[in-house]
Amino acid sequence: MHDTTGLVKMLNDLEIYGVCTRCKDQIEWRIKYKKYKPLAAPKKCVKCDQKTVKRAYTAVCEPCGSDLGVCVKCVQPKELVAKSTLTVEEENHRKQEMQAELKALPERERRKRERDLKSVVAGDTNEPEADGDSDE
Ligand SMILES: [Zn+2]
Ligand SMILES: [Zn+2]
Repeated sequence: MHDTTGLVKMLNDLEIYGVCTRCKDQIEWRIKYKKYKPLAAPKKCVKCDQKTVKRAYTAVCEPCGSDLGVCVKCVQPKELVAKSTLTVEEENHRKQEMQAELKALPERERRKRERDLKSVVAGDTNEPEADGDSDE
């Protein structure tokens, strides 16, 4: 159990799993500092040679990773981060906490964070202009 900020908790929705804790930290770091670039197209898995790698920064696809018991990023047989096993209740609780934390922020900051997060989740790093939909 880590005491993390609301933003990090939100980013948990990206669900990083199948990697070792070290690689997870690295990916989280990228997300946190907006250096995370989602894959535009699936990448070739170094194990099965199929274009099955859908997650950025990973070398092995998820089925291979779990079959071989290796981290999909560093391809080492390490202790892996499992897929989230939170119950719906826990998940809701987490979302509430996250919202409360967002509310505590000044309006400006809050919107910025929400927007940042959405663009990360949507895999859209080129943020559209927030204002002036002057396309009429
Ligand atoms: Zn594979
Ligand atoms: Zn790893």
